[in-house]
Amino acid sequence: MMIKQSKANLDTQQAMWVIFSRGKLLIQTRVQTIPVAHFSDLPFLNSYIDDIHQLPPLNDSAHRDVPVFVVDLGSQHIEEDGWERVPLRSLLFTEQDIAFTVIGRAWQYIHFLRTHQYCGQCGAKAERVEWEMAMHCHRCGHRSYPRVSPCIIVSIHNNQQILLAKGVRHKEANMYSTLAGFVESGESLEEAVHREVFEEVGVRVKNLRYFNSQPWPFPHSLMVGFIAEYDGGDIRCQENEIDDAQWFDADNLPNTPPKISIAGQLIEETLSLISNK
Ligand SMILES: [Zn+2]
Repeated sequence: MMIKQSKANLDTQQAMWVIFSRGKLLIQTRVQTIPVAHFSDLPFLNSYIDDIHQLPPLNDSAHRDVPVFVVDLGSQHIEEDGWERVPLRSLLFTEQDIAFTVIGRAWQYIHFLRTHQYCGQCGAKAERVEWEMAMHCHRCGHRSYPRVSPCIIVSIHNNQQILLAKGVRHKEANMYSTLAGFVESGESLEEAVHREVFEEVGVRVKNLRYFNSQPWPFPHSLMVGFIAEYDGGDIRCQENEIDDAQWFDADNLPNTPPKISIAGQLIEETLSLISNK
């Protein structure tokens, strides 16, 4: 559900404002996060009133009563004192509380609206459905919903060691993490784990255990986490994907992702598992 707003109902209470401009997020320099404000506190939004949408209410009790408005300024840039633009990724890692439920979700909705302006079936202009999050084609009746792309992410252990890999894209950061990859059409989550692990590092795994999941808004993944046990094979890194992969002892770990990411949580869980062996 995305509700178009009138000026009157926008200003009834304070709201969280997720404002995108040129693919980045507009934040208040003073607080270094998204504003919690009345509409009248944000005069530069006056000319964007038709582009303001309210996200569905949040489920967590801390934020349930605060409306969340999202605005896409597209390629427009706001030159306003006290405001700056930051990459979405940098805010996600600092705003633990609202990172995925507010900011990540807002970005996924905006990405959906941007990429579904025309019907994928007949090419006519699509229109937003007022009462659910969808784009509808009035010529052929085709309706599109925000895409969610499942990805598996898996932590592998063998006795008291954990297998971590450095992706080609994270070479600069020298960051070692769990393995991850998109689920292919017609594949189960478990099949995707076995295939990805073998493709990326050449080993076999067994005894998969579901761990947790996390939406990942780049642009619309759902990370489904597993912990697996090593079953056989020698490490062989996939060209163009994995720069290096190794077995690490718990007391001699490389640089790993922060706990806010599911990768960081999987590593933490696996370490506690192998330290109890
Ligand atoms: Zn159509």
